[in-house]
Parts: sequence; C-alpha cells; structure tokens
Amino acid sequence: MDEAWWCPATPFPNGRAEFTLGLRGGIFVNSAGERFANESLPYDRMGHEIRGGHATGVSHIPVWFVFDDRFDNVPALCEPRPDPAAFRAAGLWRTSDTLDGLADLIDVPASALGSTVDRFNGFAATGEDTDFRRGEDPFDRFFAAGDGPNPCLVPIDRGPFHAVQIVLGDLGTKGGARIDADARVLDGSGDPIPGLYAAGNSAASVAGHVYPGPGVPLGSGMVFGYRAARHLRSD
Ligand SMILES: Cc1cc2nc3c(=O)[nH]c(=O)nc-3n(C[C@H](O)[C@H](O)[C@H](O)COP(=O)(O)OP(=O)(O)OC[C@H]3O[C@@H](n4cnc5c(N)ncnc54)[C@H](O)[C@@H]3O)c2cc1C
Repeated sequence: MDEAWWCPATPFPNGRAEFTLGLRGGIFVNSAGERFANESLPYDRMGHEIRGGHATGVSHIPVWFVFDDRFDNVPALCEPRPDPAAFRAAGLWRTSDTLDGLADLIDVPASALGSTVDRFNGFAATGEDTDFRRGEDPFDRFFAAGDGPNPCLVPIDRGPFHAVQIVLGDLGTKGGARIDADARVLDGSGDPIPGLYAAGNSAASVAGHVYPGPGVPLGSGMVFGYRAARHLRSD
C-alpha cells in the first residue's frame, strides 16, 4: 500500500493536476533551493525521488521547475499549456527579472538557488552533470532541446527567470489486493478467496515497486482481467 504509479504533476488553477513529462530544459529545486535528481528521469522514478527527498525532512512538496526565458515565457515542456495568465494569477507560475527575485517569490534561499544555477550552468558548458548524470541515458535525450554539448543541460542565464510549481502526483494506485496468476484475490494465508477477483489499480501490481515501461498499468490490467474472465468460465 505504500506504492503508486508516481509522477511529477503540474497543479492547475482549477485545483487539479496533470502529470508532467518531457522537460526540454530547466531544473527542479527543493525548498532548500537545491537540485535533488536527474530531471530527465522517467516520471515514476522522478516521483520516487520527490518522495525520497521529502522523507529526509527537506520539503520537496512542492518542488519548483526553474528555467529561463528562452522557451518563450512558457514551461520548458513538450506539452503546451493553455492560458499562462490563469496559472500566474493562481501563483502556480512565477517570474522575476533576477534569480534572487525568483528565489524570494518561491521562498527558497537566494544564495542556494544562485549556487545551484551556477553549478548547473557549469555542467551545461562542459556537457557533464557530475551530480546526477543527466543526459547520459538515451531515455533522457528523447525530449531534450539544448544545442550545447549535452542537449539535456540547457543553461539558465537569460532573464527573466521562471518557476513552475510541481507536486508529487500519481497515475493511479497499485497497492491493493494480492492476486494469483488467475487474478484470484489471496487471503492472508496466500489462499484464493472463492469468487473474488481483482485486476488493474485495485490489485497489487505485478510490477512491484517499479514502472518497467510504457503501458504496464493498462497492459497488466487487461491481462489479469482476461485471465479472471477465463478462470470464471472454467470454474
Ligand atoms: C493521465 C494518465 C495517463 C496515463 N497513461 C497511461 C499510459 O500511457 N499507459 C498505461 O498503461 N497506463 C496509463 N495510465 C494508467 C492507467 O490509465 C490506469 O492504470 C488504468 O486506467 C487503471 O484501470 P482500472 O480499470 O484499474 O481503474 P479505472 O480506469 O480507474 O476504473 C475504475 C472505474 O471504477 C469506477 N468506480 C470507482 N468507484 C466506484 C464505485 N464505488 N462504484 C462503481 N464504480 C466505481 C470509476 O468511475 C472508474 O470508471 C495513465 C493514467 C493517467 C491518470
């Protein structure tokens, strides 16, 4: 029950949130104004990083997605966002001419944010992120948009500077009833409970603590739904 299909999520002015992937630039900083992970990780792994970071006692909920003005004043994401004004009015997107000013707006220490960005800009210049190895895995480079030596490391040096609030989100639950290969729900002793089946998000996932690849939530739900129906017919 301690697991879900985690993801970073962008809160919307209406109170809902949308899962966030495909960073073209920028960095995530926690409440200490520091990076804490490779921002180009797959979304479930970034969700685990946010959870793990938060558990250390440094607030990671929210984290802030910080980038500069080279992306036309909208989040450096592959997905376009509608109506920036509404996000700004709700305080979910913040902008300042200076990094110090932005640090004040997102309530992180200005000196820490400045050091974090300086260090990251150094990585962008050399093409090597010696802290989190961003851009070394081919997955990282799928959405990348930088034109430097490492396309995932886009410098943050063209003001004004922007921050977008990011929270821990999920695509669904995956801790639930334990099932066997026929989707029969197991009791505390590991024996099937007659007539009770589970599949999809109400079942404990066959993937355990990881998200092995695209389609696992829907794929495993379909497979175990099918297996349950076959077992029902044969029973
Ligand atoms: C934004 C987003 C993107 C995703 N993208 C992918 C993807 O690309 N690939 C992938 O594999 N997975 C993806 N997922 C995950 C996937 O959609 C879910 O894991 C999957 O839909 C779960 O299916 P389910 O049938 O178990 O639950 P659900 O689809 O949540 O169905 C549960 C149903 O039960 C109904 N219900 C709830 N309570 C009651 C009640 N008391 N009485 C009657 N009905 C009730 C609900 O209304 C709902 O219709 C995504 C999820 C989200 C949110």
